[in-house]
Amino acid sequence: SMASPALLMRVVASAYSVAEKAATIVRNVMSAGDLGIVEKAGPNDLQTKADRLVQMSICASLARKFPKVTIIGEEELPSDDVTEDLIEDGHCEEILKKPCPAQYTGIKEEELVIWVDPLDGTKEYTEGLLDHVTVLIGIAYGGKAIAGVINQPYFNYEAGANAVLGRTIWGVLGMGAFGFQLTEAPAGKHIVVTTRSHSNALVNECIAALNPDHVIRVGGAGNKIIQLIEGKASAYVFASPGCKKWDTCAPEAILHAVGGKITDICGNSFQYNKEVKHMNSAGVLATLRNYEYYASRIPNTVKESLVP
Ligand code: AMP
Ligand code: MG
Ligand code: MG
Repeated sequence: SMASPALLMRVVASAYSVAEKAATIVRNVMSAGDLGIVEKAGPNDLQTKADRLVQMSICASLARKFPKVTIIGEEELPSDDVTEDLIEDGHCEEILKKPCPAQYTGIKEEELVIWVDPLDGTKEYTEGLLDHVTVLIGIAYGGKAIAGVINQPYFNYEAGANAVLGRTIWGVLGMGAFGFQLTEAPAGKHIVVTTRSHSNALVNECIAALNPDHVIRVGGAGNKIIQLIEGKASAYVFASPGCKKWDTCAPEAILHAVGGKITDICGNSFQYNKEVKHMNSAGVLATLRNYEYYASRIPNTVKESLVP
C-alpha cells in the first residue's frame, strides 16, 4: 500500500487551500466596501477587516488539522471563537502526490513553525493598488524557511473580465517553486525594487549607492519577491527596520527553492524558530541571481546604521 504523505507535504497542501480561501475573503471584504481600517503603530501601519478575518481563517484552519504546530500570525486579535464559515478543511491533491524531499520526511508537528501574514501590503489594499496584495504562509523547520505559499488575490485584475483572477505560488526547498513562470531579469541591467510607503533617508541613500538603472516602488514583501522571480526586478533592497518574520518566511522559502538568496542588509540570514525576534531590524536584501554584486555595493555606513 502507499505510505501516507509526509507531514510537510500535508501542511503545504493544506496551506495552499487555506490561502485560496483567504484570497476569497480579501476580495469579499473589498467588494462589500467596509474595510474597517484600524491604525496600529500609526497611519502607515494599518489593519483592516480583511487582515483580521483572514488571520482567523488561516490560523484556525491550520491549527485544527495540525494542533501541535506553532502558528505565529501578524495581527493581535481577541481570542474569540472563530465562526465555522471561516474554516477551510480542503487541501491541494496535486501537492500531496509529490514526493517529500528526503531530508524533510521525518519532521514532526511540534518541530514546525508557521509564520502567517494574512494580508501583506495592507496600505496598498486600502489605496486600491490591489495587485500589490499577497497572503503569506511560511513554514519553518530548524529555524529555516523550508516551504511557503504566496497567494496573490488580485493577480490579473487589470487584464480584463476573461482573465482568471488570483493565483497561488508555492514552493519547498529541494523541490522547487510552482504556480508562476520563473523569468530572469534583463541581463546587464540593475533594477531595484523597494518600498513605496515606508521610505526614509537611509532607504533612499542605500538605493542611490547601488546606482540602479531603474527603481520600482511597490507595496508588500510578497509582491517584491514575485517581482524577482518573474524577472521584473534584479534586487529587493530595503535598508530599514519594519519588515517582520511573517513578511519574509514564505517569500524566502520560495526564493531559495528557485536558487535565489535573501538576507538582511548586512548579509545575515534570517532565523524563523518560534523564539526569534519578529522584527527584521537590519532590513532586507534579496536577489534571484547576482546576490554578491548587490551585497558588495551596500555602503558600510548603511550597514552600520542597521543593527540586527
Ligand atoms: P513595504 O515594502 O513597505 O510594503 O513593506 C513590506 C512589509 O514590511 C509590509 O508588511 C509592511 O507593512 C512592513 N513594513 C515595512 N516598513 C514598515 C514600517 N516602517 N512600519 C510598519 N510596517 C512596515
Ligand atoms: Mg506584511
Ligand atoms: Mg500584513
